[in-house]
Formats: sequence, C-alpha cells, structure tokens
Amino acid sequence: TERTLSIIKPDATRRNLTGKINARFEEAGLRIVAQKRVQLTKAQAEQFYSVHKERSFFGELVAFMISGPVVVQVLEGEGAVARNREIMGATNPANAAPGTIRADFAESVEANSVHGSDSAENAAIEIAYFFAGSEIV
Ligand code: ATP
Ligand code: MG
Repeated sequence: TERTLSIIKPDATRRNLTGKINARFEEAGLRIVAQKRVQLTKAQAEQFYSVHKERSFFGELVAFMISGPVVVQVLEGEGAVARNREIMGATNPANAAPGTIRADFAESVEANSVHGSDSAENAAIEIAYFFAGSEIV
C-alpha cells in the first residue's frame, strides 16, 4: 500500500480545521497512520522546501510555515500520493476544483491549508524527514 506525507499548514491549524481536514482524508479512503503537531524551526522549513529556494516566494513561504504549529502526518492507501493531491486540489485555491480541501478551506496561494508529496519518491524522502519507521502504525 502506498504512503504519502501530508502537512496541515499554519493557516488551517490556526482556524481549528485539523479535524475537518482529517475527515476529508478518511472519507477518501486514506488512513492516518502517523501524526504529530509540531512547531517547525526556520532551518527545518528551509530544508523541507529547499527545492523552492530560488523562487521569489521562498522567504515568505518559510516565514508562513513557521508562523504557527503544523500537523505532519503519513496517509496510507491505494494510490495515496495521487489520491491526496486530488482531494487537496490545485495549489492556488482560485483554481481548485469545488469540494477539494483547498477550494473549501485555503486562504490564498501561499496559505493553502495543506501540503502533499508530489511523487512516491518524494513521499519516501519526506516521510523519513519527519518520522521514524516505528512511529508509523
Ligand atoms: P505543496 O508542495 O505545499 O503540497 P504544491 O505542490 O501544490 O504545494 P508547490 O509548487 O510545491 O505547490 O509550492 C509549494 C508551496 O509554496 C505551495 O503550497 C504554496 O504554499 C507556496 N507557493 C507556491 N506558489 C506560490 C506563489 N506564487 N506565491 C506564494 N506562495 C506560493
Ligand atoms: Mg509541492
């Protein structure tokens, strides 16, 4: 069974939306097999988003990701990476399909409520960044 890394971002934890977002995952057949609420450090956020370090929005993105606690989680299910991207919706909530998490909850292209790994290969790297194997059950 496939696994993907999900992050409920600070805009969503701030608005107390963790449970509503988790319900979307479970209703879509994804199982939350690991989960913790953490305050990321600047260094952690920079490393996690290092693929974007040359982008104009990198500094703002890092500042946003450390502006409050996040919930990092591992979702498991058939085709979990693609399934999660589908229910998250497009990066910019203005372009996200109706009924997706970002269409329903995101505030802006930056404060877009959730992160989901974009490939099985990156999922494995991102999961290992936050969780020990023994924490995933
Ligand atoms: P994520 O990686 O968070 O799941 P994504 O894969 O849909 O989102 P990416 O292109 O990887 O989008 O961008 C990473 C994050 O950077 C976005 O989720 C968003 O928070 C932020 N971001 C992307 N584009 C912009 C932009 N033009 N302006 C501000 N922030 C942006
Ligand atoms: Mg991405």
